[in-house]
Amino acid sequence: MQFAQVIGHATLKAKLIGNIREGRIAHAQLFMGPRGGGNLPMALAYARYLLCAGREEEDSCGICPSCLQMAKLEHPDLHLMFPIFLSEKAKVCEPFVAHWRQAVLSGPYLDIDQWREHLESENKQLRMGVDIAQEIQRKLSLRSYMGGFKVMLIWLPELMDSAASNKLLKVLEEPEPNTVFLLVPTDAEQLLSTILSRAQLVRVPALRPGELAEALRDRFPELGQEETMAIALRSEGDYLDAVEMANKGEEELFVFFRDWLRSCYTREVDSVMEFAEGFQKMGREKQKSLMRYGLYLIRQCTLQWQQVPELVRVLGQEQEFVMNFSKLLDHANAEGIRNELETAHLHVERNANPKILFIDLSYRLMGLLRMGRA
Ligand SMILES: [Zn+2]
Repeated sequence: MQFAQVIGHATLKAKLIGNIREGRIAHAQLFMGPRGGGNLPMALAYARYLLCAGREEEDSCGICPSCLQMAKLEHPDLHLMFPIFLSEKAKVCEPFVAHWRQAVLSGPYLDIDQWREHLESENKQLRMGVDIAQEIQRKLSLRSYMGGFKVMLIWLPELMDSAASNKLLKVLEEPEPNTVFLLVPTDAEQLLSTILSRAQLVRVPALRPGELAEALRDRFPELGQEETMAIALRSEGDYLDAVEMANKGEEELFVFFRDWLRSCYTREVDSVMEFAEGFQKMGREKQKSLMRYGLYLIRQCTLQWQQVPELVRVLGQEQEFVMNFSKLLDHANAEGIRNELETAHLHVERNANPKILFIDLSYRLMGLLRMGRA
């Protein structure tokens, strides 16, 4: 991964490059950012630039031995740590490194659900235990092969259990020369605050619509300009969401959301239960996407209902839905539906039981939809 392959974030790239060129290289850095914003590719591009033997002004050279190894993520001074499904047989990362490389090389905007799929661990919890912390210490004790920096990249460090975090903290407190830790969390709230305080923060924010649209145009040249922009806006800075939406064309999320709301409105309890089953099977990230997408659509309905249709950014089927559904909204219930979706999004994030949450949400929506004007 070179900086050129990382979507957007031009200012941040320039700053990171400047820091390395001027020798300001913090020994622990936290590449923090939301899903699909590119914190992992950014950290990998940073590592590649740091290790490059022929750094150019705007990127790593791409041709030195170090760059060639980094292109395959096989540089001997790049150590990769990530959560796995811990078991009697699997306690450390080493046996899974080849898998992880493959996962990242095929999709550097990797998220935990995709990684779980690569591991074929289905719904199992991925964690990092104390054996992984020991593995980190062991790897750090190795001498640098190339005589330069050693990079320890820890993806999703928030999934370390407390014994492992405490061990990591000790390592961070006693920095070794020429060792750089790149911690790449998605959810920093779960990280030990002491770890946060030991690392320099590199915030990798959600992508801007323009940045996303440009990336989508490269990857999906067949999409129309209008559709590309609509997806870029709707995905709210998450490249993975954007790609998923673009891939689907006829929007699975849209159909699910529309038909589910219809069942809520007509109070078809059996059908709501079927949607709850479907929701449970989606996986957490997609469940969150559905809530975000619902919020987006309700926002568009409100705009329609407030008679500012020029602000409505929807196309085709969505347009039809917005026209019809906005007739059911008034001040009180539009606000109520938004609140319910936001709360549900939060609860999904906090590991609520998806089926119970979804049924509960459906009943609340049934009530709110009946408050409307229709
Ligand atoms: Zn190079």
